[in-house]
Amino acid sequence: MEIKIIKPSFRLETIFDEETVLKMLEKIGRISHKSEAKIKEDSAKEFVKKIINLGHESVLEHFSITVTIICDRGVSHEMVRHRLASYTQESTRYCNYADEIIFIKPVFFKKGSPEYDIWKKVCETAAWEYQKLISLGRKSEEARTILPNSLKTEIAMTCNLREWRHIFSLRCSSFAHPQTRETFIPILKCFKEKLPIIFSDFAIENNHQSPYPFVAQKIKAAP
Ligand SMILES: Cc1cc2nc3c(=O)[nH]c(=O)nc-3n(C[C@H](O)[C@H](O)[C@H](O)COP(=O)(O)OP(=O)(O)OC[C@H]3O[C@@H](n4cnc5c(N)ncnc54)[C@H](O)[C@@H]3O)c2cc1C
Repeated sequence: MEIKIIKPSFRLETIFDEETVLKMLEKIGRISHKSEAKIKEDSAKEFVKKIINLGHESVLEHFSITVTIICDRGVSHEMVRHRLASYTQESTRYCNYADEIIFIKPVFFKKGSPEYDIWKKVCETAAWEYQKLISLGRKSEEARTILPNSLKTEIAMTCNLREWRHIFSLRCSSFAHPQTRETFIPILKCFKEKLPIIFSDFAIENNHQSPYPFVAQKIKAAP
């Protein structure tokens, strides 16, 4: 059976623009001191920067972003440990992979290397035997037991901005698994482009001795 091998990817589901998000957060954030009179056309950026620098991050919980992620089941298992999030994930109980089965290429095995060949052979064998179990009349929820961590999954994840910041600080750091960084760093890059005020204190570096070289960490805010 021919298997399909792809790289991880993501799709942003929430439509927003920075100005609207910052203005909403300022309006809500100013409730605490009843300082709404200070709202000006251009005051939102400085206000949101200030609450982040002060650690007054509960205000960031008022806006959520949904992202649909394609990754392997190993990475998705790490992802769902984050409890302040909502998920909808492709079900290996109900989806039948007898016709097509997709695996995520591990970033640390170079195509053509002996390690890559071992990995590919195991995926092909699992796919072949999965198909056999299905043809013997077994249900997907039974046949799935022989599929490896590399099986592709699709998972929609919704978090508020505070939780996304928390997730990036854990899942993009040098301590995170290379495949987890490979999944989350592109999402962080996208968020940094779309909401620079909220994610500008995350610096992405390319100097790490790792199969996936990018790492990100929170830098100290400007005074
Ligand atoms: C590099 C790395 C290695 C890891 N290795 C392992 C491992 O070997 N084994 C393993 O089991 N897990 C491991 N984990 C998972 C880790 O222990 C957490 O379960 C996971 O990162 C979820 O993060 P979190 O608990 O901070 O918060 P989330 O669930 O994202 O919650 C966000 C924050 O809310 C607060 N919070 C949420 N729920 C509670 C609660 N019930 N009580 C109090 N405060 C709460 C905490 O402040 C928490 O930080 C690892 C994680 C990383 C990043």
